[in-house]
Formats: sequence, C-alpha cells, structure tokens
Amino acid sequence: MTIKQEVESILAHLGVSKSACTSGDLTVRTPITGEIIAQIPRITPLAASEAIAQAHLAFLEWRTVPAPKRGELIRLLGEELRANIDSLGRLVTIETGKLLSEGFGEVQEMIDICTFAAGLSRQLAGLTVPSERARHRMMETWHPLGVTGIISAFNFPVAVWSWNTALALVCGNAVVWKPSEKTPLTALATQAIFDRAAAKFGGVPEGLATLLIGDAAVGQQLVDSHLIPLVSATGSTAMGRAVAPRLASRFARAILELGGNNAAIVAPTADLDLTLRAIAFSAMGTAGQRCTTLRRLIVHTDVYDKLIPRLKKVYASVNIGDPREPNTLVGPLIDERSCNAMQQALDAARADGAVITGGERINTEDPEAFYVRPALVEIPTQTDIVKHETFAPILYVLKYSDLPEALRLHNDVPQGLSSSIFTLNLREAEQFLSAVGSDCGIANVNIGTSGAEIGGAFGGEKETGGGRESGSDAWKQYMRRATNTINYGTDLPLAQGVSFDID
Ligand code: NAD
Repeated sequence: MTIKQEVESILAHLGVSKSACTSGDLTVRTPITGEIIAQIPRITPLAASEAIAQAHLAFLEWRTVPAPKRGELIRLLGEELRANIDSLGRLVTIETGKLLSEGFGEVQEMIDICTFAAGLSRQLAGLTVPSERARHRMMETWHPLGVTGIISAFNFPVAVWSWNTALALVCGNAVVWKPSEKTPLTALATQAIFDRAAAKFGGVPEGLATLLIGDAAVGQQLVDSHLIPLVSATGSTAMGRAVAPRLASRFARAILELGGNNAAIVAPTADLDLTLRAIAFSAMGTAGQRCTTLRRLIVHTDVYDKLIPRLKKVYASVNIGDPREPNTLVGPLIDERSCNAMQQALDAARADGAVITGGERINTEDPEAFYVRPALVEIPTQTDIVKHETFAPILYVLKYSDLPEALRLHNDVPQGLSSSIFTLNLREAEQFLSAVGSDCGIANVNIGTSGAEIGGAFGGEKETGGGRESGSDAWKQYMRRATNTINYGTDLPLAQGVSFDID
C-alpha cells in the first residue's frame, strides 16, 4: 500500500469524507517521502466569520449546561480517542514525520487531558473569603468566558487542540480552531472524532467546536474577532509578536505558547549513564522539532571529556529514516525550509568557531524529503546563533566551571520554556529550582527538558510568551471570575468603615 492509499484508508475509517481531502488547493505532503497525500479546501474569510458567529451562538447555549454534564462530553471524546488511537497516531506520524511511538504518545496525551478535564468539570470551585462586615458573605464564582480561539503549530498538530478544547468546553466555552496549514489532515480527523463524541452525547449546539482550515490570514481573523475573548496561540515567537499586540489592542486574553531554547546543566556529580539517555531523547527526539527540545548543553569541565565523546558516538550511530520503522529514532524534518534553516545556523556556528559533528542532509533519494543527521556543536561561547531557536536537531555544547557561571549562561537567552540540571548534589538541585536558579516555566532535575505530563501547567517565560495550558489551575484562564458579596443583615455597613449617611 502506498502512503497515499494508507492515508485514504485511515481517513475513511475515521469518517472524513473523500472530498474534504481531494478537492482543494492546500497541498499536503508527507515529510516521510515528500509525496503529495492530499489537497484540502481552505475556508473563505466569509465562511470563517460565519463560523465564528455560529460558535458564539453555541457558547450562549453551552454555558447554561451544568459543568459536570459538559464533562460528560469530554469523557466521551476521550473514549472515541481511545478507540482510534492507532489510526490517529499513525496519521500524526505520516503528516508530521514523528516516530510511531510519538504519534501514539500524542494521542495518549489527548486521552489523558480528557480524563483530567472530565474530573475537573466537578471541581471548578471558587473561594469563600471572610468578609470584614457583619452578616455578609463574600465568595468567588467562575463563569464561562466565551468562544476560545485556538491557533496551533505543526509539531503537535492535535495534542495542543485537545489541551485547549478539553478545558475550554468543560469551562462552558465554545472553540474555534485554526490548525497549522502543514497539518490539516490530522485536524480533519480530530474534528471527525469530536463530531462522533458529540453525536453520542446528543444535543450539542451547532458550531460548539469548529475547524477553520487556512493560513495565517485565518488565524488573524480569530485574533481580530470581538466575538473571541480568548485566543490560545502556539507557534514561533515571530507569530506571537504579530498576534499579541492585536489581542492587547482589543483587551482580549492571550495564552501564548511560543518558541523555546532549552538548556540542561550537567554537573560534576551527574549520573552520566542516565544523563546520556536523557540528552539523546531530549535533543534528537522528534528530530529536534519540539518546543521543549534540548538545544543547549552546559557541561562542567570535570565531566566534559567523559560525557561528550560518548555523546558523539550516539550521534554518529543513531538510526535515521522512515519514522514508521521500529528501529528508527530520528525521522525527517517537516520541510525544505526547516532543512535550510538548520544549514544556515550551522554555518553561523562554524563562523563563530564551533566544531560540528553531524548536521549533514542524508537519504537524498526523495528530493522533497529532508532527513538530517543531528548536529552536536561544540562552541566556545554563547554567541547570537546559540541564543536563537532553530527548529531542528542542533545541540550546542558549552563548558562551565562553577554553578553561578552555568546559571548565567543558562538564563542568558531570550526564551524561557524548559530546563534541566543533572546532579546528585542536593544544594545544586535546589538552587537550580529556586528564585535565583532557572528562569523557565519548566525546571527539572535528572530528567530531560522534553516530554512533559499533562497534569502540570505547561508553558514558559520571556519570549516563550508567559502562557500556561493543560493541567494545574490553567483552567482559570478559560473562565471569568466574579467576586460576590451578599448582605443578609438589615444594616448597610460600608467597607473600610466609610460612612455615608443620607438621613
Ligand atoms: P508558526 O509560527 O510558523 O505557525 C504556528 C501557527 O500560527 C500556524 O497555525 C500559523 O498559520 C499561525 N500563524 C502564523 N502567523 C500568524 C499570524 N500573524 N496571525 C495568526 N496566526 C498566525 O510555527 P510552526 O512552524 O508551526 O511551529 C514551530 C514553532 O512553534 C516553534 O517556534 C516552536 O517552539 C513553537 N511551539 C511552541 C510550543 C509551546 O507550547 N511553547 C508548542 C509547539 C510549538
């Protein structure tokens, strides 16, 4: 079976109509071979504004459904995803070039957030606050906010939708989704799965969860629509720079999940076997195309010569190729642009005096498929190119001699997503996690920078955008908080003892 035939069979199985994948001008290629696998129709600006208006109407109805009942829809969505993990996971692999285990892992993450959100639907609780006035009660209530706009990136084509959608729907909002133009097939498949869950639930308002396929211009429509009070946007820092001021200009809320430039510090006491495995997965997994990919390794001079030669061996021998094959550890880059960006970054590093192992393009028999050997780049100082996120498997390696120097290097980049320290020294580990340690949204000890669980709030600081999605109390951003004060007495005492007698 060709990849195209496999895609057609998966889409038919998931209930996506053939015309939805063959009749448009958005060309979809699989990065595995570079061949064209679909032609998708794009939404028109008019149809997009109608869909947003319909989502707003759906919100007005959905917000009156009790939250635990809304949770039942998400529980059903989780069941549908469980039943289709193989098909959707395989499609993720075909459309993005991730390993199969990563494709399945992405769908598992969707299932996990559904479980989390279904439970959350019974816990959207507010505080009770002691009032300073007699016979008064003060409390917080959380209400649905409105339509949530979701803009997602190619590298987590469906998990990001689920992090936002599971929470937004449980919170009583509707959602409108603009996926990456590089991954519309997995978006269509996900929408079909959602529609099945909605049919089982029964009575879901039309347009509660809507998919808009198109490019950045459709994303801008979400950003500019006064019917969308919250936009969750995942992608590059350049995208965030374009989106954030437009949202701010109309006082809309933003959850920004932007680029990372994640580092790990390897201290003298590190367990080097464990560290080596963690570095390999974090730096080369998903061919370096995770926002949490390890991009900078800051190694103590005492262990540099023990670790780096071993790491070079791993880089030289890692299996690169078709991500559907069980022995493959590194699949293709998403496209030619990404491959060119990698080569340009390596040229800049070379000019800065770096010594580079790997980095070359390989398996060139398919001209439209872009496989590269991950690059290990030993560089004397943290130059501009090291401070820039290149979305490809490049690991810059720097040396340090004391922890303050390592922390300085660690934090001296514009991004602030994920970070790790490898150490068995309690003082170092605690300092790394403290207020004067890592400045990132995610800080780990003795595990890599990538592979977060859904239970924690996910996101980062500085140019990563400051947003938080997924677990912990991220749900609060999808709701509006009201502070209520109730007077059950016969007097009208004013706060702070103010008197205002009109008799
Ligand atoms: P991208 O910025 O090219 O595109 C992301 C999405 O934004 C796409 O849907 C795109 O159409 C849309 N978009 C682009 N410009 C827009 C605009 N002006 N207005 C509205 N929408 C616009 O990113 P990409 O190449 O798909 O993904 C890779 C990037 O995403 C990397 O920088 C990576 O670090 C980042 N990322 C971050 C996270 C996170 O959680 N922090 C997660 C995944 C990816």
